[in-house]
Amino acid sequence: MSGTLFIVATPIGNLEDITYRAVATLREADVIACEDTRHTRTLLERYGITKPLKSYHDHNERERAPELLAELEQGGNVALVSDAGTPLMADPGYRLVHAAIERGIRVSPVPGPTAAPAALSASGLGVDAFVFAGFLPAKATQRRREMERWREARATLIFYEAPHRILEALEDAGAVYGERPVVVAREMTKVHEEFLRGTAGEVRAELAGRPSVKGEFVILVGWAEQAAATEETLEEEVARREAAGMPRMEAIKQAAKARGIGKREAYRELAGAGRTGRRGAGQQSGGQTSG
Ligand code: SAM
Repeated sequence: MSGTLFIVATPIGNLEDITYRAVATLREADVIACEDTRHTRTLLERYGITKPLKSYHDHNERERAPELLAELEQGGNVALVSDAGTPLMADPGYRLVHAAIERGIRVSPVPGPTAAPAALSASGLGVDAFVFAGFLPAKATQRRREMERWREARATLIFYEAPHRILEALEDAGAVYGERPVVVAREMTKVHEEFLRGTAGEVRAELAGRPSVKGEFVILVGWAEQAAATEETLEEEVARREAAGMPRMEAIKQAAKARGIGKREAYRELAGAGRTGRRGAGQQSGGQTSG
């Protein structure tokens, strides 16, 4: 019987962000396939694991995949890791997973850190629907085209970007997304973790004013309706929708969705606002940068 290909998520910065199951899977695997053997060895040393490592990265995927598939077909268990986070998420592994599935080999995820949902969870932007678009293209024309491709999506957009292109990317984001709320998550789980919030222009200006722009970045863009929702209270938005002919329950559902909050939270907020007249929670603080 063939072995299992485990897709193991590892930390995106803080070495303690790893699950018990990930450590156990790495300890028990026959082979660990990784991008950079030195990088993965540091993680393994932290958990006292000594295992044969096989490098598996963008430039040797084609040659390495057959060797790993042979190991699996002989009954060995292979753990695939990347330098950070979840393999295949803007990282190598697709070819191996695809080939393993075609051969009837079991592929099993060992979930854990990934930069995109981590950034989303702390961004304050809507989470009901999101698009993870991976790395933005390096060339300006293609980058803008990629940003435009997602402009009408009713979802929070998530892009990965390299530090040496972050200012250019934010400039393009300003041109394409205008005043929509933008969050830049930098160095998550590390010493210099920060979240910069504002419009693309504001966040860009904040970063451009620094002596150097370093670290790892995720760019998130709220969607147009979310941005509009920041201008009015939940009560006002529900009233506007009702005035436009929408039944109240539907108006509440839509307004909640636009703010990235649940229906029950919206009902609770409306009940509270009725009593206190306060502005609703779940509103974005667009226009501010903080770090
Ligand atoms: N597989 C990883 C994952 O699960 O998120 C992503 C690997 S990809 C090669 C590296 C990119 O992910 C970085 O350029 C950055 O955009 C994002 N990233 C990874 N770690 C991060 C962190 N600690 N803080 C912010 N962004 C991070």
